[in-house]
Amino acid sequence: MCPAPGLGGLNGALDSPDLFSMKSLILLSGGVDSAACAAFYSRLGHSVRGLFVDYGQPVRSVERESAAKVAAHYSIPLQSVVCQGPEANFSGEISGRNAFLITTAMVFNPKWTGIIALGIHAGTEYYDCGHTFVEDISRVVEGYSDGRVALGVPFLNWTKKMIWDFCLANHVPVEITWSCEVGPKTPCGKCLSCRELEAIYARQTDLPPFSVPIIMRVLGLFLAFVLLRGATRREP
Ligand SMILES: [Zn+2]
Repeated sequence: MCPAPGLGGLNGALDSPDLFSMKSLILLSGGVDSAACAAFYSRLGHSVRGLFVDYGQPVRSVERESAAKVAAHYSIPLQSVVCQGPEANFSGEISGRNAFLITTAMVFNPKWTGIIALGIHAGTEYYDCGHTFVEDISRVVEGYSDGRVALGVPFLNWTKKMIWDFCLANHVPVEITWSCEVGPKTPCGKCLSCRELEAIYARQTDLPPFSVPIIMRVLGLFLAFVLLRGATRREP
């Protein structure tokens, strides 16, 4: 069953949409969660914009491409910010990541009035995906903006499965999203995003037709990977 919009844990302050001019700036990573976030605020009738941040993550190219496709699907403008720094091991929980994304959105949109939203959800132990982080960073956002900006986290209390169901019910184009944090060409199957989606695929027996190509693509890629690895091993 698809959870109804508005029950997903919006900050209390956001219950007064007029205060924030019904404007939402979505941190679009190209993944399922942020695509659902764009759909969520579009459904609420907000004026929606997207922001993609390249901070050197290994999958930035495919993420940027997917974010652009999601933005095009919803006909929303997409801003792109590139941050350069030394090589780093961006895997698993990245210390400071979501705070960095949120403050980057503020830095490059200094006159923004409205919501800055991200698709964090329940079911992960990462500090920057939980209630404590939301309370902490909300104070920072409010302090920096004099109350002009508020954090939007509609899925804070939703599980990944609830987001998935929301996507199916609202025709979110999950087939153009990219959620693996590691593999720029094939899903690694090991990162948190891959494991979350695989758990959903394993449970889902009534996928609608548009989901079939995703499964076929994942199975095809896995088969190709196995065959390639076998071929490589046979080489002298
Ligand atoms: Zn992965």
